[in-house]
Amino acid sequence: MTIHAQHQPGPQAPDARPALPTRVRVLVVGTGFAGLGTAIRLRQEGERDFAVLERGATVGGTWRDNSYPGCACDVPSHLYSFSFAPNPHWSRAFSPQPEIKAYLERTAEQFGVLPHVHFGTELLAARYDDVAAVWRVETSRGVVTAEVLVLGSGGLSEPSIPSLPGLERFEGTTFHSATWDHEHDLTGRRVAVIGTGASAIQFVPHVQQRAARLTLFQRTAPWVMPRRDRAITALERRLFTAVPALQKLNRAGIYVGRESWLIGFAVKPRLMAIAERIARLHLRRQVPDPVLRDRLTPRFRLGCKRVLLSNDYYPALSQPNAEVVTDPILEVTADAVVTRAPDGRRLEHPVDTIIFGTGFQVSDPPIAARVYGPDGRSLKQEWVENGMAALHGITMAGFPNLFLLVGPNTGLGHTSIVYMIEAQIAYVLGALAQMPVLGVASVAPRRDVQDAWNADLQEQLAGTVWNAGGCSSWYLDSNGRNTTLWPTFTLPYRRTLSRFDVTQYETTPVRVRSAA
Ligand code: NAP
Repeated sequence: MTIHAQHQPGPQAPDARPALPTRVRVLVVGTGFAGLGTAIRLRQEGERDFAVLERGATVGGTWRDNSYPGCACDVPSHLYSFSFAPNPHWSRAFSPQPEIKAYLERTAEQFGVLPHVHFGTELLAARYDDVAAVWRVETSRGVVTAEVLVLGSGGLSEPSIPSLPGLERFEGTTFHSATWDHEHDLTGRRVAVIGTGASAIQFVPHVQQRAARLTLFQRTAPWVMPRRDRAITALERRLFTAVPALQKLNRAGIYVGRESWLIGFAVKPRLMAIAERIARLHLRRQVPDPVLRDRLTPRFRLGCKRVLLSNDYYPALSQPNAEVVTDPILEVTADAVVTRAPDGRRLEHPVDTIIFGTGFQVSDPPIAARVYGPDGRSLKQEWVENGMAALHGITMAGFPNLFLLVGPNTGLGHTSIVYMIEAQIAYVLGALAQMPVLGVASVAPRRDVQDAWNADLQEQLAGTVWNAGGCSSWYLDSNGRNTTLWPTFTLPYRRTLSRFDVTQYETTPVRVRSAA
């Protein structure tokens, strides 16, 4: 079995890379939208005493790693970008991955943050030293001491590959959508795709066109809506360049349009029946075969899982070289995926390539196992015992001076995560600005405040389509608790985060640090 390497080391020889600082005020982890955005805003606020760790060779986070064919954003680009770095040149309503990756690279360069970034440098363990009120961060290139640690490591960074019995015996090639093996030519191959989520529906049409045979293993049929993508005309681009206010207006319009989905998702899930009708019509128009159509018909309320957008997924599955298998996978052999038919028979599906579109470790982020609070307990232990939770999805009781971006209950099912990230960065900057003014060396949220915040969130989530829509999704943890999504409109979140309220925090005075 060949598995594509996950993270390439930096292109430069280790000694050619700038030395890692031994001490900084702020240490940022990751260079996706979250880490880069933090670095840019720090610089804009005049902060220079910071460093950014990046285990890969270039910036871009999930938009660097996910290079599978057909990868694109299903949130319009004019909203899925930094408000402080508008791009009038987006070529399409929903930009393809290379364009988003190039945007992040260009923005990092333009705002001068690259000299702060240490590529090929992975956080191995971060331990809080409460005597000195600092984080001691062990990396693959040495130790950095930081007063504040900002994790922008993201929820979609660790691929999830199911432990299928026999997978290690498979003699063909396997890879995950996030680590696409571009060297592996799919022409004429018999390819298995496992998973039918947002990633799979984007690459399945590409695979179907090249492979001799595509066998798609579907556990749950997703809802698929028409994808209203279009090229942005040269005139529009010229107008956005000449009149930036027009682009802002366009962005605001997209924002309002996307927020209106919340009425169905969270306020009146029954309204989703209207969208379901559109999606069913889409399915009927694109899949003439009633047996296949039945297999592809979702059996839960639309919105419970992420709503997928595609115009070429259903047509690809209707081609003679494609098959959709809904029987459960029993095992993998040297050259086949084996399923169990409804009558109990073993059915072998011969394949030479297996592509996993099986998503990411979202509700159990591996970074949590690498971060240890003052009492030596890891964030993972804390979350295993008390559930994944944070105050505002950013700070965690018992973990001083730790800020997690896109943390618990700040994911979105309807609009741009970049909007949430910017709100969170503003909150972190607020804390950083207040701490010296207040003479505070460390801040960690009060447990009672954090608990009240989460109790309120869970109450709001109870009736939403994500919790009550009749599906099982990674939005919910193993106890059925929704620890991933923000329950309501995004504006109130931004408002709440516009001010860092130190009364919600336990603090230690600066003298603790100077005494150390
Ligand atoms: P995903 O949404 O988690 O989908 C994973 C798929 O794999 C699901 O169909 C799941 O089936 C299936 N699966 C998982 N384990 C399996 C197993 N053991 N056996 C059979 N099937 C299994 O992952 P994703 O498609 O990579 O998307 C992840 C997230 O990335 C999205 O929700 C979205 O936030 C983001 N994304 C965004 C875009 C965009 O355009 N902005 C594009 C791609 C991805 P079940 O449904 O039965 O669990």
